[in-house]
Amino acid sequence: MNPTLPSVPIDLAPDELADMVQRLMRIERDLEAQTDLLRTVLDESPDFVILKDHAGNFLLCNRPVANFYGTTPEAMVGKSDIDFGCPPEMAESFRRNVLDIMARGETEIVYEESRDARNGRINHFKSIKKPFTGPDGLPRILVIAHDITDLREAQLRVEDSERRLQHALEATGDAVWDWHLPSGGLTLSRRWCEILGYAPADLEGNLSDFMRCLLDEESAAVDAALRRALEGQGSYLHEHRMRRKDGSVIWVIDRGRVVERDDQGRPLRMVGSVSDITDQKRAQDLIWQQANFDTLTGLPNRHMFQDRLAGQMRASDRSGRPCALLMLDLDQFKEINDSLGHAWGDVLLQEAAQRLRYCVRDTDLVARLGGDEFMVLLGELTDSQAVARVAHEVMQALAQPFRLGADLVYVTASAGVTFYPHDAASPEELLRNVDQAMYAAKRSGRNACRYFTPAMQVAAQDRMRLISDLRLALAQQQFHLCYQPIVELTGGRIRKAEALIRWQHPERGFISPAEFIPAAEATGMIHELGDWVFHEAARQVARWRRSHPTFQVSVNVSPLQFQNGRLALAAWLHHLTSLGTDGHSMVVEITEGLLMEAGPEVTQQMLRFRDAGVQVALDDFGTGYSSLAYLNRLDIDYIKIDRSFVCNLRPDSPDLALCEGIVMMAHKLGLKVVAEGVETPEQLALLRSAGCDYGQGYLFSRPVTADRLDQLLAQPQALAA
Ligand code: C2E
Ligand code: CA
Ligand code: CA
Repeated sequence: MNPTLPSVPIDLAPDELADMVQRLMRIERDLEAQTDLLRTVLDESPDFVILKDHAGNFLLCNRPVANFYGTTPEAMVGKSDIDFGCPPEMAESFRRNVLDIMARGETEIVYEESRDARNGRINHFKSIKKPFTGPDGLPRILVIAHDITDLREAQLRVEDSERRLQHALEATGDAVWDWHLPSGGLTLSRRWCEILGYAPADLEGNLSDFMRCLLDEESAAVDAALRRALEGQGSYLHEHRMRRKDGSVIWVIDRGRVVERDDQGRPLRMVGSVSDITDQKRAQDLIWQQANFDTLTGLPNRHMFQDRLAGQMRASDRSGRPCALLMLDLDQFKEINDSLGHAWGDVLLQEAAQRLRYCVRDTDLVARLGGDEFMVLLGELTDSQAVARVAHEVMQALAQPFRLGADLVYVTASAGVTFYPHDAASPEELLRNVDQAMYAAKRSGRNACRYFTPAMQVAAQDRMRLISDLRLALAQQQFHLCYQPIVELTGGRIRKAEALIRWQHPERGFISPAEFIPAAEATGMIHELGDWVFHEAARQVARWRRSHPTFQVSVNVSPLQFQNGRLALAAWLHHLTSLGTDGHSMVVEITEGLLMEAGPEVTQQMLRFRDAGVQVALDDFGTGYSSLAYLNRLDIDYIKIDRSFVCNLRPDSPDLALCEGIVMMAHKLGLKVVAEGVETPEQLALLRSAGCDYGQGYLFSRPVTADRLDQLLAQPQALAA
């Protein structure tokens, strides 16, 4: 402030002078008023206003400065900061700053701090410092300082919470992105770079840089998901793969949200976070793999198969083209598994699986449903012969020998075929059909393929009915035993009889054991039935032995009866004792199948039979494996040559050679031989000359009732001698 005073002329009249004085006094009053006004304005300012000289001394301060230093503006004039308790180093820095700014001669903004004399607190200021030259020609500086302490604190709080947020985000392991749509600018958190294996600078920048980490095959889906989010509600969630800098591929889950829009609601900014879910994905894949694939062969399992079957049926509905189901069951798998061991059994299954895959189109499905059961699903058939062709190829492929270590193994398969929609409307029905067709192939003698027919359905229903009838039959005493004489070939005397079960069904009449024994085995009823047969046969033999002390009755024992310790041997022997006889009166007929599976349990039971004097006959010899090894290993007393060899006996026939061979071998091993199904005197003559010990067949007698056997035993003449 530099008020211009009017110049005073020296030669003034007294009244002029008085007038002049009056004017001067008025001017002075005005000046004072103006100064007061300015003072008030300055004092009311929330900012500090300070005028300093070149030495840093105060020339002028407003009241807020004086209050801060705990004094009055007037008291500050001519003093420096240090006079008001400002720490010396702070005061020194103010002074130097003043000198610097004066030297540079330019207005500057300085951030500095100072101590409030009233409470000792350090406050922060943003100061504008303007140097100028005073009316006396000396340098001055005007300082307007704005207290930013509160602002700074707020800022620090924000920074702090940002830091915390950052820590929290880092703790989740997630990466964060911030995408400014109009510019395409993309900000990525440090974690992003870690996840993708890049240096932060590599990825900083725009979307396209970053997009190169996306796999080509994923980008369309990512684009689509983003577009849907931007055009829709603004939230984005997508799982996809990305390629790391080192080339490895990871899975991420990306979640984003639009956080800013323009007036028209168009998205401006989107933020999101990304987690690396590679490990979860791997675990998921593993679980999926285990849930859907067979670990041994790598083929789809039952679960996956059922899924695909349903899908294929729907596809057929749409296209109008049928599909077919081919079920395969290896015929000799169990035997191979048992004889060579499970490890080689596994190798066989793996090799079989591979051959199956090779026989079908890529679009067809080969699945392993368990055990040695495979399913082939042939979709969208255009050619009616295609299935027959595949079935043929598959069976050919399996018929090729398998090399299992040192062994060359031959297997065959039984196959069933059914068509959708021709044979069934539902997956369950289709599976039932194919099972029945396969079952029919097995029963036809294996190594065959059968197409499902409605007759099979009827047969299956009959089997079901048979099973339920079988349960009633025992309770209602519908069973009885027939006895077929076994004749000693030298002399023609009846020495033994085979007990054969008969079922007189109240409605269906006579049912062959060949029909119902498998059903009894399948349902477990064979145990009950077998016990009944033994008890009944024992009752009869005890009676016959009174007149014929060496007479024996043989009973057929199913291999299943030996399983799970179900054979009630002690009860059987006890029953014999209670009838006044013993084990020597009985022979059990077993099949080779049992011996193939002869584990320690079976061997144990066979030994207990021997100890009790019960003899053992090997039934149907020649139809199965006919391995000599177990004849020696287990205590066998008789071999029964199967009917199929006996019925073809002619002089010089191969079957005669075979029978002669069996007899010779059996005798060497100390066994006796029974020929089954002897129907003609010619057969009898040949068997006699071959040295066979016993014969059984229609030539001597059909199976007869116990009463009829009484009569035959009482006859003095030999049978068919
Ligand atoms: P298998 O043990 O081979 O019994 C001999 C079968 O041959 C009997 O048939 C018998 O009637 C028949 N047969 C006997 N001589 C001749 C002949 O000269 N010519 C012809 N063509 N056949 C003859 P069946 O009684 O129908 O029994 C069939 C099969 O059922 C038996 O074969 C046996 O495996 C089984 N079986 C019979 N009874 C029982 C039983 O009580 N328990 C068990 N587990 N199975 C039984
Ligand atoms: Ca038999
Ligand atoms: Ca037999």
